[in-house]
Amino acid sequence: MDYGSPPSAIFRIDMQRFLERAERAAQLANRYPAAREPLKFFAGVSLFQDSRGDADQLCALILRIGPPAMRDAARHPEDNAWIQRVLGEMDPPQSAATHSNRACPKCGSPPQLGVLRPCGDGSALYLACSLCRHEWTYPRTECPHCGRNEEDILQFAQTEDYPHIQTLTCEECQRYMHIIDLGKDSQAIPEADEISAQPLDIWAIEGGYIKIYPNLIGL
Ligand SMILES: [Zn+2]
Ligand SMILES: [Zn+2]
Repeated sequence: MDYGSPPSAIFRIDMQRFLERAERAAQLANRYPAAREPLKFFAGVSLFQDSRGDADQLCALILRIGPPAMRDAARHPEDNAWIQRVLGEMDPPQSAATHSNRACPKCGSPPQLGVLRPCGDGSALYLACSLCRHEWTYPRTECPHCGRNEEDILQFAQTEDYPHIQTLTCEECQRYMHIIDLGKDSQAIPEADEISAQPLDIWAIEGGYIKIYPNLIGL
């Protein structure tokens, strides 16, 4: 038996998913004051999803604690992509119309972030879906957006403030994505920790890179 092979996909218990990330976001809001407001908003949205609220309740939440730039969205919820995405996360589609390993094999959506999970003596890279949060294995030497794997095309940046987060950038397609290392922080909830990494987003954007897929706070 090979104890070093990672499972090809990771499923989390759906019932706990939104509650877990709300609790983690609240903890991170204390640790990272620079990202406190987006983390608190993300925690509020996650609790709304945990309670399985409807569009009217989501609009009321935006007007109460959302960033000012989102207030218009709350007035036209039916054709707002962000509101439909938040509601869609609660009931993601179960069929994928894709054969690319750079899209979610369960629902076909693009990856939001990378997750390094301890495996044997090292770790295995998974991509986490931006909609249903399903995770699938992906080669560490390939760009998760354009698929190129030439030497030196991928760069990995890190700062002292975020020892468990790397920012992958691709010189070929100029895209970037954060990777959460669960070997360095086993308590991390990838989608919540990614929101806390706002300064890394600003660093990447100022460097001319575009996020592969924006997170729920639009970065
Ligand atoms: Zn998916
Ligand atoms: Zn690329």
